[in-house]
Amino acid sequence: MEQSTTPEALRHRLEDLKQTLNEYAYQYYVLDKPTVADSDYDRLYHELEAIEQQHPEWITSDSPTQRVGDQLLEGFDKVTHSEAMYSLGNAFNHADVDAFIDRVTKQAGREHVQFMCECKIDGLAVALTYENGQFVRGATRGNGVIGENITTNLKTIKSIPLRLRQSVSAEVRGEVYMPKQSFVALNEERDELGLEPFANPRNAAAGGLRQINPKAVAKRNLNVFLYGAVYTEDFMPESQAELFTQLEEIGLRTNPLRQLCSTKEEVKHYIETISQQRHDLPYEIDGVVIKVNDVNLQQELGFTVKAPRWAIAYKFPAQVETTIVRDVEWTV
Ligand code: NAD
Repeated sequence: MEQSTTPEALRHRLEDLKQTLNEYAYQYYVLDKPTVADSDYDRLYHELEAIEQQHPEWITSDSPTQRVGDQLLEGFDKVTHSEAMYSLGNAFNHADVDAFIDRVTKQAGREHVQFMCECKIDGLAVALTYENGQFVRGATRGNGVIGENITTNLKTIKSIPLRLRQSVSAEVRGEVYMPKQSFVALNEERDELGLEPFANPRNAAAGGLRQINPKAVAKRNLNVFLYGAVYTEDFMPESQAELFTQLEEIGLRTNPLRQLCSTKEEVKHYIETISQQRHDLPYEIDGVVIKVNDVNLQQELGFTVKAPRWAIAYKFPAQVETTIVRDVEWTV
């Protein structure tokens, strides 16, 4: 594609990108039926971000870069999150990760910053609220500020305890996912019934959680990993590492494939090791999340409009690039 640099052409491209990305997001989040690979979506998103960075005066509120999260669905009660559920900034290569580490280390004014590296589970973010140890409410991320109340459906996930091992009041956050084995079985069943297969386990999990009939949800064999919480006086770990220990102590499921890293080389090594292991894991991951370990430093760094400044998601390159079904034309 021949790239022109005239402002008119660039402006045109920006409008096309916004329209296309909004359409893809609708297919992905609302219909749970993506028509392009995530890497294609990310590439176009990145291009839009670059144009907007060059021309901030062109940014409009309907741009996909200005959203915290997904679109809201009808059919479930709405829940206002006690603290927004953010997305994550993306890194597509080691240089992006190194730049993130450099930026955080500089802003922290420290010589070294410790990072918790985790698998990026390809699922659906949820918030679980416990009052005095009792599971009272579960919600999707929704648009990040308001989510859908899916408590009844989440109760079908056996690894979500209805009562914690301690009488704690806390809102914990994590990812609901569909194990690969359940995904294959589900698509075989759908094939026999003449139904369209799900594109990936994430979409099957998302579709599963939004079913109106909890019995149908239970059949999807969903599972959960917790990795976050809303911090309060009652629930305030000092670090991401300590958060995991506390989540486990109160009876919540966490992913053991995590590692504290103190240097760029260690982070790189973690990414490479997980990249090699990912196909043998019983669940899909689409990258690695790198988080500042120290909670005080996380709070100092804060958030942008849509993502924490103290974390980044390294996305694996796509194994097989799908053909873009409907790409935008470059108009000169
Ligand atoms: P994201 O998937 O890039 O990352 C943020 C999410 O990661 C969090 O909300 C959380 O749900 C999840 N996560 C998993 N493991 C985690 C961990 N250990 N710690 C913290 N978070 C963890 O961002 P998003 O806003 O959820 O989705 C945007 C992505 O969706 C795009 O980058 C694109 O790949 C995909 N998408 C694809 C299409 C398409 O048509 N194919 C359309 C829209 C979006």
